Amino acid sequence: MKYSIEAIGIVHSCYREKFGIPRQPGLVKSAKGAIELLPPCNREEMFNELDQFSHIWVQFQFHEAVADGWRPTVRPPWLGGQKRVGVFASRSPHRPNFLGMSVVRHHGLRREKKGLFLDISGMDLLQGTPVFDIKPYAPYSDMLKEASNGFVKFAAEPVDVQFTPEANEKCLQYEEKTGRSLQTLIEEILVQDPRPASQRLKKREYGMLLWEMNVRWMADGQLFTVFSVKKRS
Ligand code: SAM
Repeated sequence: MKYSIEAIGIVHSCYREKFGIPRQPGLVKSAKGAIELLPPCNREEMFNELDQFSHIWVQFQFHEAVADGWRPTVRPPWLGGQKRVGVFASRSPHRPNFLGMSVVRHHGLRREKKGLFLDISGMDLLQGTPVFDIKPYAPYSDMLKEASNGFVKFAAEPVDVQFTPEANEKCLQYEEKTGRSLQTLIEEILVQDPRPASQRLKKREYGMLLWEMNVRWMADGQLFTVFSVKKRS
């Protein structure tokens, strides 16, 4: 059976490529963005009383996973990328229908000449992600104290993040110009250790795109040194 649905919005995100995006929402609180509401869902009345809730569920498509297809089993990063589990026992983007769901904080609607935007933070969503639905997060039933985390084990070895004086200065300049807390964003992302498990023992350089900035760091064991923050060419 085939069903067809239309996006109600498009995500604008600080995350401009997949690498670096945290594995789940809420882990990087300074991640900021917005959902641009598309017609016919760009009407304020559709959000009446949403401000009574601090968080929302966002249902979306992993649009950048579609081209690679899906597999019945996947290797979650939590298991060191070694062991396979069923796709329905995972949160992998590579799944039938490529549907995702994230709880994010919302900061209310913003009407601009360009359209209607719902500001959000703490998301794990790539720029351009199509959104299919938005619902209030209701802790009274959505927060399950008795739920288990399965094979999800939290970082055994903490990461230390430092900045060279040049990278530090570039962050400050960017923050002054845009009002965006770039340095805090970088720190919060890096302490999540975005490296694939297979690379954790190697000394290696990495890069990620945040907003319009290209951020580069050297990972040496558990010490990450951010050495370059430049406007991307
Ligand atoms: N919270 C969601 C869920 O459980 O359905 C997403 C979890 S998924 C493990 C998070 C990862 O999806 C991110 O680390 C990022 O690499 C990837 N991702 C985010 N937005 C995407 C998109 N639009 N297309 C493809 N991959 C995306």
